[in-house]
Amino acid sequence: MEDIIIVGAGIAGLTAALECKRAGLSYRILEACDQPGGRARSRSLSSGRVIDLGAHWLHGEGNPLQAELDRYGIGYRRDTGEAIYIQENGELRQAGDDWLDTAIDHDRADAIKSGQAPDCALTELAANPEAHRMLADFALLWDGVDPPVVPSALEFLSDENTPGGLEIEGGMGALIGRMAEEAGLARIHLRTSVSRVAEADDGVRIQAMDGSQWLARRVLFTGSLGVLKSNMVTFQPPLSGDFHEHLAGLVMGRVNKIVIECDPAFLAAREIPVDMAIELLDGDPPHFCHVHSGGEPVIQLYVAGRQAERIEGMTPAEALDYAVGVLRPVAALRGFDMHVVSPAIVTRWVANPYSRGAYSCCLPGAKRSGPRMEGAVVFCGDTFDTRFPASVAGACLSGRAGARMAIEALGVKVAEVA
Ligand SMILES: Cc1cc2nc3c(=O)[nH]c(=O)nc-3n(C[C@H](O)[C@H](O)[C@H](O)COP(=O)(O)OP(=O)(O)OC[C@H]3O[C@@H](n4cnc5c(N)ncnc54)[C@H](O)[C@@H]3O)c2cc1C
Repeated sequence: MEDIIIVGAGIAGLTAALECKRAGLSYRILEACDQPGGRARSRSLSSGRVIDLGAHWLHGEGNPLQAELDRYGIGYRRDTGEAIYIQENGELRQAGDDWLDTAIDHDRADAIKSGQAPDCALTELAANPEAHRMLADFALLWDGVDPPVVPSALEFLSDENTPGGLEIEGGMGALIGRMAEEAGLARIHLRTSVSRVAEADDGVRIQAMDGSQWLARRVLFTGSLGVLKSNMVTFQPPLSGDFHEHLAGLVMGRVNKIVIECDPAFLAAREIPVDMAIELLDGDPPHFCHVHSGGEPVIQLYVAGRQAERIEGMTPAEALDYAVGVLRPVAALRGFDMHVVSPAIVTRWVANPYSRGAYSCCLPGAKRSGPRMEGAVVFCGDTFDTRFPASVAGACLSGRAGARMAIEALGVKVAEVA
């Protein structure tokens, strides 16, 4: 019997494992996929370049994963998020630092933040009708939700994830690799898809699809909100009504990427700035594109909402054609398809049964919480953090806090870690 079994080897699960290791407890990680990382996964191209299939930036000030990069000696650079351009009405213009700020009715925002006014839909924060559309586009491109789903204004106002952030040398995979190594590769059981978690007299019994069975004193479940809501894992006793109500206030946003590697000479000849971010607002739906990401000759086209789901079946050739169509209005990128050096990559985060979407979004009036303990099972991951919701930072903080809850429930004192 293990002290703790962790379901999922994403950022939350690996952070939790390191916390268990520090506390001197025995633990195992059961991971459904054939590699760790979850939605923070990278892939090497034939050129040797590494691209991020999911998370790319460590957003926000005080991101807890920066300390981990420093501890491992992994390099990174800062994308200040200043090279933001807006393609609208047939023109490309640089957005000011305050492009989103000017869209907001600040009196109403202050009242909501201080609790004097109730939470509302993000779009209702608009300072004027034009700003309403800008906030609707933001909800789609940032949260991955399209109408009738609208994010909570309060979460938008309190979220510490800000555009841009740290970009990791070697991609998210470099960090995941080091965390997995430190957690102990022999303790991570890949291709082990958990189907049932049941409390019994002798502990918590965990059953996997391959027939394997496990026994632990406590379980940490880090599967995404989409996985939790899909009921692909049965819990005994069943999740409480209160927990179901909590989950009903959150929805899974849909975001996919088309990643295209170009000849570096193309971007250099066009003088494309490093980390150029373009909001393409003329199309229906709008798109977000990140070019020259981290100084690499890579174009990342973000496709959100219903459209994210539609592109999932595309072949690399179809995905390239799609990107050409979306980027046609951007004069500086015209002809990029003649300088592509490897097949386009299309992610499939919605169809993936172990993510079922990109990340969670909080609905108006609902409230997120930190990790939740239901009997002997602690639920944590990017859905369960209020400071950096729906991000790798949130997953890290939640995995750490969730592990501490489980460790303390076993009567072990947790040493404070900065
Ligand atoms: C396209 C995209 C772009 C993003 N961009 C950013 C960004 O720039 N910055 C940022 O901070 N965040 C970003 N995110 C969000 C970020 O990737 C996630 O918030 C974070 O990685 C979640 O980590 P986690 O450990 O909570 O969950 P996950 O990464 O989902 O880890 C959960 C793990 O559990 C496993 N699992 C699920 N079900 C089972 C089961 N039944 N049995 C066993 N294992 C199971 C999964 O395979 C997975 O490995 C992005 C996400 C996407 C999809």
